[in-house]
Amino acid sequence: MHDYHAVKALVARLERLPGPAILEVTVRASPIFSPEALQQAYEMLTAGTPLAGSRLAVEEFPERRECRRCGDAFAVSPDLTAGHLVICPRCGEVSALELGVGLDVVGITRARHSLEDVYLKMAEEDPEARR
Ligand SMILES: [Zn+2]
Repeated sequence: MHDYHAVKALVARLERLPGPAILEVTVRASPIFSPEALQQAYEMLTAGTPLAGSRLAVEEFPERRECRRCGDAFAVSPDLTAGHLVICPRCGEVSALELGVGLDVVGITRARHSLEDVYLKMAEEDPEARR
């Protein structure tokens, strides 16, 4: 469920951004998120909005750790987290997530020109058009 809430907040932020249409958004996700769940939520939450049809690209932020109790080394995955905690798959020892629980936007690809940009450019190139 945290995937859904994080994407909902992300979509709300993206909708407020001015500028040409967004084609793709790249996020760097904490290992508590499942990329598939994020993409599904994004598709669902952008349907019927100006963001519909845009893609969400997820860069995973792998976090490996060694359990302080049993020494098992493992990669943190959504199955092994609860809130801000990581649970050792071998002995169940609980520790805190180090990289946080964020979903950070690291890139936005936009349509090259909005209609407005095209009109402004025409006006610059042809002084007559400005009258
Ligand atoms: Zn352990």
